[in-house]
Amino acid sequence: MRYAFAVLIASFAALCCASGASAQTASPQEKNRSFQEYAPWLAPSLKLRDYHIHLRGGMTAEMAVERAEKTGVRSGVLENHGREWPLSSNELLDEFITGVEKVNQTLPKNKKLRIGIQVNDRDWYKTIDPKIYRRLDYVLADTMIMGKRPDGSDERLWQLPKDYDVDQDEWFERYYKHCMTVVNEPIDILANVTYLPDFIADRYDELWTEERMTALIQAAIDNNVALEIQVESAFPKPKFVELALKMGAKLEFGSNNFDAAMKDTAAWKNVIERFNIKPENLWRDRKDERLVNSAK
Ligand SMILES: [Zn+2]
Repeated sequence: MRYAFAVLIASFAALCCASGASAQTASPQEKNRSFQEYAPWLAPSLKLRDYHIHLRGGMTAEMAVERAEKTGVRSGVLENHGREWPLSSNELLDEFITGVEKVNQTLPKNKKLRIGIQVNDRDWYKTIDPKIYRRLDYVLADTMIMGKRPDGSDERLWQLPKDYDVDQDEWFERYYKHCMTVVNEPIDILANVTYLPDFIADRYDELWTEERMTALIQAAIDNNVALEIQVESAFPKPKFVELALKMGAKLEFGSNNFDAAMKDTAAWKNVIERFNIKPENLWRDRKDERLVNSAK
């Protein structure tokens, strides 16, 4: 990788000289030309990191490094952790982390991938070996699995039928409590915040009252949990984002990919432009915080 990087720098310098400019006077925008192509609306000064890059469907750690080089949006990679998910034991988790650590050993400090997991069991912090846990940079969770099916498997809320026959108010009360439980776990990022399954999604404004939103946001602030703006997700709604920013919550911008293709980042753009997102609105992991501060 270092050799490839040197070749990249050399060819960039040659390009500059051919056009009469010098490498020393190149602006950050020029250095990030491909990033500009990717998202011309996104100011490089935001120093975004996408913490929601799954290593699945052909996506690899090496590709996440390459993506960061191309786009200027740095990468955090993770996989699903839980009894019914790819990282279902400490051995498998150890293997996953070791694989990314090996890639990181070949990279300079500012290009290293952050390593995370997405936790899908609610007792995850009791089952992970603390020694392995300490090698993780962050833990991400969403609220889209709640309770068990009759066969004992996880109830995956996105699979509930649109005509799900249930007392909706009672269901939401349970769901709201579940959201408050998840945000109070030792997690770092809450994804798909205020998500509602199809059968109840049209009652969003009525069910997610300002009081409930405020309580969820306050818990996120108290626990230093970032609220994720995910590409191609309808949640959270602008009303929630506005309140979260007003209260001083931190945001994270994530992909949640299923394969190696880059998703459409329109949802990021909408939030960044509509709410004039500044670096101080972004959540950073501890290592990133040190990097950003040392660059000031
Ligand atoms: Zn995910």
